[in-house]
Amino acid sequence: MSLPDKKGYFGDFGGKYVPETLMALLDDLEKVFRGALKDRSFQKEFQYYLREYAGRPTSLYLAERLSRHLKTLKVYLKREDLLHTGAHKINNTIGQVLLAKRMKKTRIIAETGAGQHGVATATVAALMGLECVIYMGAEDVKRQALNVDRMKLLGAKVIPVTSGSQTLKDAMNEAIRDWVTNVRNTFYIIGSVAGPHPYPLMVREFQAVIGREARRQFLAKEKRLPDYLVACVGGGSNAMGLFHSFFNDRKVHMIGVEAAGLGLNTDQNSASLKKGEVGILHGSKSRVLETKDGQIKPAHSIAAGLDYPGVGPEHAYYQEIGRAQYVTVTDQEAVSGLKLLSRIEGIIPAMETAHAIIYLEKLARTVKGQKSVIVCLSGRGDKDMGTIKNLI
Ligand SMILES: *Cc1c(COP(=O)(O)O)cnc(C)c1O
Repeated sequence: MSLPDKKGYFGDFGGKYVPETLMALLDDLEKVFRGALKDRSFQKEFQYYLREYAGRPTSLYLAERLSRHLKTLKVYLKREDLLHTGAHKINNTIGQVLLAKRMKKTRIIAETGAGQHGVATATVAALMGLECVIYMGAEDVKRQALNVDRMKLLGAKVIPVTSGSQTLKDAMNEAIRDWVTNVRNTFYIIGSVAGPHPYPLMVREFQAVIGREARRQFLAKEKRLPDYLVACVGGGSNAMGLFHSFFNDRKVHMIGVEAAGLGLNTDQNSASLKKGEVGILHGSKSRVLETKDGQIKPAHSIAAGLDYPGVGPEHAYYQEIGRAQYVTVTDQEAVSGLKLLSRIEGIIPAMETAHAIIYLEKLARTVKGQKSVIVCLSGRGDKDMGTIKNLI
């Protein structure tokens, strides 16, 4: 059976927990999305922009020096860092902006934490000539000034949100409020495999190109399937994008790496799968970081893109059924991952991706014999130079 089910559930997780006014809109969106999936001309246009604008296919690069360093692992890097705007996020925003056009919407909104999804959204809105409004916590506007300038340069209006903790979850609430008010002409682009159904499904389908390409490329190079897939997990879109095409390949082990921040036994982490409870966030049921009385806890990670107190419902399901294993890496370990890949391969990864990289050292110590692994190199590290300047 292919998941999610009709109501948008992956096992116990997912669904639509939204105000009544949005239900009809989500139904409509799902209808248009399913129609688009089957429509050759939509697929052709999507493939066109992925290829000509974003730069697909990305290479599957054999990291020889890293493999020699790890001894027991032969590592292939799926180079999403080479895409336009520097990360996998553009795959999804291209898909959703084409849906917006198909629905004849003229206005795009999104929320953003670190600003990376905001930049990828502002980029495709500019590409299609659509009005774009980005909600961002006032605290984040201060911390991520460079991305705010990028969005403005791309023609987006950035609205600082001053309610609550003035961060990502407050920006989400504000974006949903805007959507409810302006549904007629507005399309809400969500940045990960989270949100109410059909978003986790849509984002997965738009990101699944990562795993489809990687599977084909790996088979061509190695004449077999990899033993492991490794990817970092914030909301979970680059990981699900890689994992999805391998779901039925039971011998391929999948490992998602969450941010342990300052440690799992502190309040300063983003490990929603490892440490979270079943709860509702951003319109769907999944694992979330919350206090005993059910309030969402602020998350922490040195990687802005992992700093999210929830996770996509399909990952909660993969964990529940044991299809994927979820592990954690601390801020400090991630910094050493960033240095390692920079020095050993000449590739500066995003701080998010560095979590997946450094986990390889732990994996290498536990495997028996020689194994192969595909790592999703979700993005490049240019954006993180400010964060790590004092840590090099
Ligand atoms: C946003 C981001 C992530 C985290 O988002 P997912 O939805 O979990 O993929 C990871 N890596 C990079 C480079 C990002 O920009």
